[in-house]
Amino acid sequence: MKRIYIKELANNVGQEVMISGWVDVRRDHGKLIFIDLRDMSGKVQMVALPNHTEAHALANTVRPEWVVQVNGKVNARPERMVKKDELNGAVELEILSITVLNEAQTPPIDVREDGRIIHEDIRLKYRYLDLRRPRLQNNIRMRDKIISFFREYMHKYDFVEIETPMMMKGTPEGSREYLVPSRLEPGKFYALPQSPQQFKQLCMVAGFEKYFQIARCMRDEDLRGDRQPEFTQLDYEMSFVNQEDVLSFTEPMFIELVQKLFPEKTISQIPFPRITYKESIEKYGSDKPDMRKDKNNPNELAFAWIVDFPMFEKTSDGNIQAAHHPFCSIKDEDVEKFMKGEDLFNIRANSYDLVLNGYELSSGSIRIHKSDMQKKVFELLKVSEEEQQRKFAHMLEAFKYGAPPHGGFAPGIDRIAMILLGEPNIREVIAFPKTGEGKDLMMDAPSSVSPKQLQDLGIKIIS
Ligand code: ASP
Repeated sequence: MKRIYIKELANNVGQEVMISGWVDVRRDHGKLIFIDLRDMSGKVQMVALPNHTEAHALANTVRPEWVVQVNGKVNARPERMVKKDELNGAVELEILSITVLNEAQTPPIDVREDGRIIHEDIRLKYRYLDLRRPRLQNNIRMRDKIISFFREYMHKYDFVEIETPMMMKGTPEGSREYLVPSRLEPGKFYALPQSPQQFKQLCMVAGFEKYFQIARCMRDEDLRGDRQPEFTQLDYEMSFVNQEDVLSFTEPMFIELVQKLFPEKTISQIPFPRITYKESIEKYGSDKPDMRKDKNNPNELAFAWIVDFPMFEKTSDGNIQAAHHPFCSIKDEDVEKFMKGEDLFNIRANSYDLVLNGYELSSGSIRIHKSDMQKKVFELLKVSEEEQQRKFAHMLEAFKYGAPPHGGFAPGIDRIAMILLGEPNIREVIAFPKTGEGKDLMMDAPSSVSPKQLQDLGIKIIS
């Protein structure tokens, strides 16, 4: 007999079927033994009757989280027993036979409740069990729906998904890089991408015009607050566009995402308000203002655009750095100052953020596409000619071969999922997250490696 899914039971009333899954709970009423069985599609109540002697005896032995296969007859529940708002609330499976596929020890954590009272370290150590709880099953499945929505949306508008390398030379996005030692060239390292920024721009030079990627980004930050060393962006880039084009492509995409997948939510203001960086700081004291009218309403979504970010900012030690990254173009009105290298901290970039309920969802910009302008930015950032050549020769050169004007955006999938699912942190919407200290408690990473591995890499640990 072919296995069917639990959600299909209601279409099979009166039939004999086979289902498989995990024992959720077992209630022993003496003669009648009730077992709730769970598979990826839902749950059903099953009943073992004493007249099916063998099945009844086995039903007595199974325990929560055992994996079983059950043959049974789908019976309609009597009218007064029907639970209207439950999947399978109108049916019950009469157990005819049970095969135990695998037993389970008593799980170290409860997997049926929402899990919020369990210490997170234990949840993360046993993440494969933690993920069984309905809340996390729903989060991870909804995350998949969000990603599929974006993918379909991008394809509908002729974007092409291009995978860019994970081992590269590093992209300045303001954080430290993770490094991967090269075995073949001892003493040399790859960097893991902080974002596909340079590659997506090079895809524009290559003539793809519309690129996107569900991109994994890695940043070695001191893990303040709700950050992960690796996270996911919907990264995209378009050629022959200005800022207005990127904003007016992006805004309807978010509106449609909410309407399709989270119809219970309301967006406070459409079109999304647009605020300059300066106004936002003056009025709200932040560049990610929370614009909700009612902060207690879990279904209110207040999107806002923050535009005209400064190109440069002062570091804590008084040096200069790119406020976003060095590839942003300069606003026309400020190009003169830029060329003269004057009043640097008041020069504005064609860069923009999308914020939602006080969180930064995304940053983006119209980029520089000319070599001399790019060199000028590096110069103002005090990147020496030698360093420019060493780190960015490929960009400076590529811009000499007919680079089109281009710009893009990169919304963070984890934050989007977190806010839309009403979760307090991004770990709740990532299948296998790391702790706030960047540890994988399940696999115990990072971990030491053997002396042989280090030797192959030409690496000596000095502390
Ligand atoms: N690469 C940028 C970032 O990760 C996004 C962009 O400018 O498109 O913040």
